[in-house]
Amino acid sequence: MHLSQRAKLISPSPTLALDAKAKAMAAEGIAVISFGVGEPDFDTPANIRSAAIQAVDAGFTRYTAAAGIDDLRKAVCARLKANFDEEYQPNQIVVSNGAKHSLYNAFTVLLDEGDEAILPTPCWVSYTELIKLAGGIPVLVHASEDNEFLMTPQEFEEAITPKTRVLVLNSPSNPTGGVYCAENLREIARICVAHQIYVVADEIYAQLLYDGREYTSISSFGPEIKDLTIVINGVSKSYAMTGWRIGYSASHPTLAKAMGDLQSHVTSNPNSIAQKAAIEALNGPQESIEAMRVEFEQRRNKMVEMINNIPGFSAGIPGGAFYVFANISGVLGKNIRGVTIAGSTDLADLILKEVNVAVVPGIAFERDEFLRFSYATSMVNIQEGLERIAALLQES
Ligand code: PMP
Ligand code: GLU
Repeated sequence: MHLSQRAKLISPSPTLALDAKAKAMAAEGIAVISFGVGEPDFDTPANIRSAAIQAVDAGFTRYTAAAGIDDLRKAVCARLKANFDEEYQPNQIVVSNGAKHSLYNAFTVLLDEGDEAILPTPCWVSYTELIKLAGGIPVLVHASEDNEFLMTPQEFEEAITPKTRVLVLNSPSNPTGGVYCAENLREIARICVAHQIYVVADEIYAQLLYDGREYTSISSFGPEIKDLTIVINGVSKSYAMTGWRIGYSASHPTLAKAMGDLQSHVTSNPNSIAQKAAIEALNGPQESIEAMRVEFEQRRNKMVEMINNIPGFSAGIPGGAFYVFANISGVLGKNIRGVTIAGSTDLADLILKEVNVAVVPGIAFERDEFLRFSYATSMVNIQEGLERIAALLQES
């Protein structure tokens, strides 16, 4: 079979593969606890579900404008203004089939063959593949654990070459939960403007911040950086709507038009019913969203405490998102149940096989001495899952 060079460059999403495996084990009747995929365990709030049912009953089941219906684009603008004081007009918004699709659009309209995209690591699994798919070259910048896995402005500047076109900034971060402070963002923004580097700012976790933090977007440091930034967000994480597939971008009208035109050929509009649901999510009452955030914060505290009590594991306290990126160096090289743990994949495989707990190996995020734990699961699961892991590791 012939496969294009581009297709051969792409490997499957390890997070989705692990999720499929955990779900298949559960379907076989195995009591799997999943700290694997980053997917809220809450149901989509009732008012949002009702809006979808009403859309179906009203016959809102046909093609819509490719970049999303006007009311949804307006709702996105209103939410960005209310939450983050970001000013956008509807012609700057493109609604897509999930934030992943928005990222695909962004890289495709920004990158030419051979252009470099700077990517601080650890980073989420899809960036490298989406950049390669667009013909770009991911340039990985190693951000240190001592600096909460956040790239410093100096590290950024050192990675810039004449071919640098894009910086990918994901704050709060998947997989670390790290949040960039305003001071560093201002400096990074200055460097981007000086070198005319575009920013793909993935803000999908911006509503999931803890310890009273407030969100700052890199786009907020003046019109020049705003023109260079494509903000990515969506309803999957903050509104417990992963399956509805609604994400969006906010950018300069020229970039938005290019992404809308691209999308008009690749997928047409995002699902009409899900668009109506997303309007309710963004415009409707936000109390249930805050309740989920508060619950995530409590789960985070519990998870970090328990992980730090496991011999050989350590983790800092993440400021946002719903992941803990735990250092497992203390376990590497040990032998557990006949397996020598050489890296994160060995340990994740062992934990899944022996105690039926799914975690993502850090190597999927470019860091092999770590495991990622998602706390988008119940407190009971957190307690039980981490007890199982602790008992297994007692044997080392
Ligand atoms: N960005 C990040 C950092 C994510 O963790 C995810 C989760 N898959 C996405 C984008 C994509 O979200 P969506 O489900 O809206 O495609
Ligand atoms: N972003 C989530 C995760 O990292 C969902 C899976 C995916 O899209 O990769 O687990």
